[in-house]
Amino acid sequence: MQKTALAMLLLAATAPAQPVYTNADVSSMKARYVPRSTSRLPARYPNEFDSRTVQTPKYIPWMLPYQEWTEEYKAYFQRHSHDPRVELEPTLICMHYTVTDNAQSVWEGFNRGCYMSNGNKGAVFGHVSTHLIIDKDGSVYQLLPFNRRCTGAYGVNHKAISIEMIATTEPDLLSRLHQVWSSFCVVKDLMKRYNIGPSGVIAHYEVSQGVSVVPDYLDYNDTEYPDRYPAKYFRSDPGPTYMSWLRTYLQKNPP
Ligand SMILES: [Zn+2]
Repeated sequence: MQKTALAMLLLAATAPAQPVYTNADVSSMKARYVPRSTSRLPARYPNEFDSRTVQTPKYIPWMLPYQEWTEEYKAYFQRHSHDPRVELEPTLICMHYTVTDNAQSVWEGFNRGCYMSNGNKGAVFGHVSTHLIIDKDGSVYQLLPFNRRCTGAYGVNHKAISIEMIATTEPDLLSRLHQVWSSFCVVKDLMKRYNIGPSGVIAHYEVSQGVSVVPDYLDYNDTEYPDRYPAKYFRSDPGPTYMSWLRTYLQKNPP
């Protein structure tokens, strides 16, 4: 008996701990991630989307304590866009995936805050946020009101609604058509609600390429790279195949 108990204790002691990711970890994972070959995937647009009936998304409230961050966000927007307002009038919709595969840990990471890059001026503690998280089962969680600026994609946060999709890689995301479909319904709903045209639907990797790809890109904070992300912060989410599916769908089925 005693031996068994001891063995169990040893097992418990050596079991790998559940990883706890911070926003800084996610940021560095996204910067490092190199898309793998998608040759085994249905890279071609799935025509079945065209015959689906659009559902009005159910935005499930899972709000971050954003009111507590008002002063922090005012300072953030003053630094990045010389406009300290925290209110948002959305004209862009920016798509992301999380790199981690668990919505709870993403929410907790946002809530905890982290040291984030502050242009070419080192790092500053703050709270990264996005408006929505679309979970692997297609559920849509709302973390911030749409009339409030988030900090999910610097360069466009003064204008964009940011949407995270839970996925570790682009192939992982594309393997769940119900989640992809849920994101299409959300984008369509927001385009209609805020009168945003197809050119306003952008990818985080396009934002990272800067003003030549996303003309609204703005960052007064980084005097070394005022018009794009420095190479070490380049993004690949949510990937070119996802964006081509989304754009094909919107072109064939406009809001
Ligand atoms: Zn992103």
